[in-house]
Amino acid sequence: MKIVLATGNKGKLREFKNMCETDVIAFSDILGEVDIVEDADTFKGNALIKARTIYDKLGDEESIVVSDDSGISVPLLGGIPGVYSARYAGEGSTDKENLHKLVASVKETGLEKTPAYYTAAIAIVSKYGEYVVHGWMYGDVLSRTRGDKGFGYDPMFVPSGYDKTLGELDDELKKSISHRAKALKLAKPIIKMLQR
Ligand code: IMP
Repeated sequence: MKIVLATGNKGKLREFKNMCETDVIAFSDILGEVDIVEDADTFKGNALIKARTIYDKLGDEESIVVSDDSGISVPLLGGIPGVYSARYAGEGSTDKENLHKLVASVKETGLEKTPAYYTAAIAIVSKYGEYVVHGWMYGDVLSRTRGDKGFGYDPMFVPSGYDKTLGELDDELKKSISHRAKALKLAKPIIKMLQR
């Protein structure tokens, strides 16, 4: 059975490929561009929409589709951007535009930093059924960016226990502490079981 990733986000693809021991294929390599309407109000709901859409389009019972819906939440700002992380600065906005909008929102509070957390929901869809697992990474967001490693909101996020942003810390470190890594750790035995 082949594992197909239902994400077009280059940063996520890189991290997934890096963390999975088995071969994974991006859906776009098989299907090209697919329009997916992510209109659920939870990470779980949107992850399932992505995985189901790609599974149905593939029409291949021998594939296992894995999707990730993730984002960052800032409790002081009412949990934003949350499920809107990918379009915080508007529909079609870039990672950079979203990052700078959140930096501006934190700046407006007058604080230099405030608690925040990343959530990742990973959905797995195959002929045997559907599964969803979650992972979280806690820390603070800053009112400015530091470093340019990682992607998305990483240059403004300092994980708990560190004094550098994910924009400054090594990708290798992120691999061991990230929301996505934690969710993937739970997803791996499920994927293995489905491959048998
Ligand atoms: P999604 O592709 O709809 O799940 O959108 C997730 C959005 O959340 C991305 O566009 C990023 O802006 C942000 N995001 C999710 N995970 C990360 C991460 O590990 N680092 C930085 N930003 C992330």
